[in-house]
Amino acid sequence: MADFDFAIIGGGINGTGIARDAAGRGFKVVLIEQNDLASGTSSASSKLIHGGLRYLEHYKFRLVHAALRERELLLRAAPHLVRPLRFVLPINEARRSAMLLRIGLLVYDWIGWRKILPGTSELDLVTDAAGLPLKHRFHHAFEYSDCFADDARLVVLNAVDAAERGAVIRTRTRCMRADRGDVWRLVLNARGQRDVVTARVLVNAAGAWVEAFAETALRQQPQGRLRLDKGSHIVVRRLYDHDRAYIFQAADGRVVFAIPFQRDFTLIGTTDRPFSGDPSTVLPSGEEIEYLCSVVNEYFRTPIAAADVVWAFAGVRSLYDDGARKPQDIGRDYALMLDERFGEAPLLTVYGGKITTYRRLAEDVLAKLSHFFPRTRPWTAHSPLPGGDFVYDGVETLIDRTQRTWRFLTADHARRLTCAYGTRVDRVLTTATGLDDLGMRFGADLTAAEVRYLMTKEFARTADDVLWRRSKLGLHFSDAQRAALDHFMAQAGGPRA
Ligand SMILES: Cc1cc2nc3c(=O)[nH]c(=O)nc-3n(C[C@H](O)[C@H](O)[C@H](O)COP(=O)(O)OP(=O)(O)OC[C@H]3O[C@@H](n4cnc5c(N)ncnc54)[C@H](O)[C@@H]3O)c2cc1C
Repeated sequence: MADFDFAIIGGGINGTGIARDAAGRGFKVVLIEQNDLASGTSSASSKLIHGGLRYLEHYKFRLVHAALRERELLLRAAPHLVRPLRFVLPINEARRSAMLLRIGLLVYDWIGWRKILPGTSELDLVTDAAGLPLKHRFHHAFEYSDCFADDARLVVLNAVDAAERGAVIRTRTRCMRADRGDVWRLVLNARGQRDVVTARVLVNAAGAWVEAFAETALRQQPQGRLRLDKGSHIVVRRLYDHDRAYIFQAADGRVVFAIPFQRDFTLIGTTDRPFSGDPSTVLPSGEEIEYLCSVVNEYFRTPIAAADVVWAFAGVRSLYDDGARKPQDIGRDYALMLDERFGEAPLLTVYGGKITTYRRLAEDVLAKLSHFFPRTRPWTAHSPLPGGDFVYDGVETLIDRTQRTWRFLTADHARRLTCAYGTRVDRVLTTATGLDDLGMRFGADLTAAEVRYLMTKEFARTADDVLWRRSKLGLHFSDAQRAALDHFMAQAGGPRA
């Protein structure tokens, strides 16, 4: 008898998505994450729930179609975290002809499973507000729909839901070794404490670490199937006054997004550079920052420079190498490799994937293992994530309700809490009748009540877990405020790594 049916390595979007799906089918699941949830690539994405307009150029119709189908499913499952976003694509004939863009967008709309999101339209940039921040030489644009999501919170909510359905979520626990017999025997290291668990199936969802895990913990030969590719983003003070995003065509054939971010900022990304080494050490380079500034400066009237960057982050894409030459030519799809041997416990390895397609990936993992675990059905397509049990366009109504119920909150505070917690805002604010009831204030509008909720319900242990992954309040915190929060959390949570 094994302790668990599934042991899943990796607390990114794919690992937590698989944990949620498997736990919801009644399996005993343990998820093992060496750091915090979403501390890897899943908090460093462009945060788009999209089909990837650009992949149409590479004829990846199946990938785009499947991803677009997920777009509206996720919007309904987590309407507090996922929001529709209109993208303005200025026509730049030197890069791609208007005709080519029009055809691409027609296809994007046509294969896009849209029931909620509006289709493509054309903009006159001379009269439309979207033209204001742009240089005068851009006269026309297309405008189309995709969605924007809080990637790290999406990961956390999958873990929360998995836990509520019985999964054991072990953060800051590294899987050091996995020995295969008729069950898997995993040696774990949780902040210096050694521990052993057994499981019937092992899922390697370690993202960019997938081959490193296979080499060190499973002692397998490198498979050479993984291609690592670094992508960086910069955040600057808000560059324009409306709520739409821009997609700019760069001289190297790539596209760069400028997206409204955390009300006061603009998020700009991304780059595509081959990467080797330990993904934990990835950082944006000066050259990448210059590149992103230069693409934006080709389009916006007011130039930006490296000195305007208030935050920059980088992540490592793990791409399943299908033999294509350039990183941008490799499909952003995923591959699932099932290694089954007579009399031995199975190993399933996840390569690649996107935030957008994690739910379907998890479903495919369960389908791939269905001969070990028959008689279960997919269930996640129409099940809300925690706090997401309201209508997809109801977030403003919910914000109003938060403000009417807790009248002492400012409009911005009510909005931030509702967009983070959805209907579970009640569990954060409980019976508070004034701000003092929420306890100590650490900076921005973060209170002890919220921090306690994050520690007890959302697996947060350090200030960075709260400031950069459960929220983006780090953008508003000084070093001293961060240290005070860390101190409070250490006192409240006992010893940490
Ligand atoms: C720059 C960039 C932009 C992107 N933009 C988008 C986008 O807009 N939309 C989209 O859909 N996708 C996007 N993606 C892709 C998306 O972010 C990734 O596909 C996704 O986050 C991968 O998730 P994951 O769970 O596989 O990996 P990760 O999130 O990296 O999770 C793997 C986890 O495994 C853990 N781990 C590793 N080894 C061990 C061990 N031995 N023991 C325990 N734990 C271990 C790591 O700590 C890590 O947290 C982007 C990616 C990048 C880099």
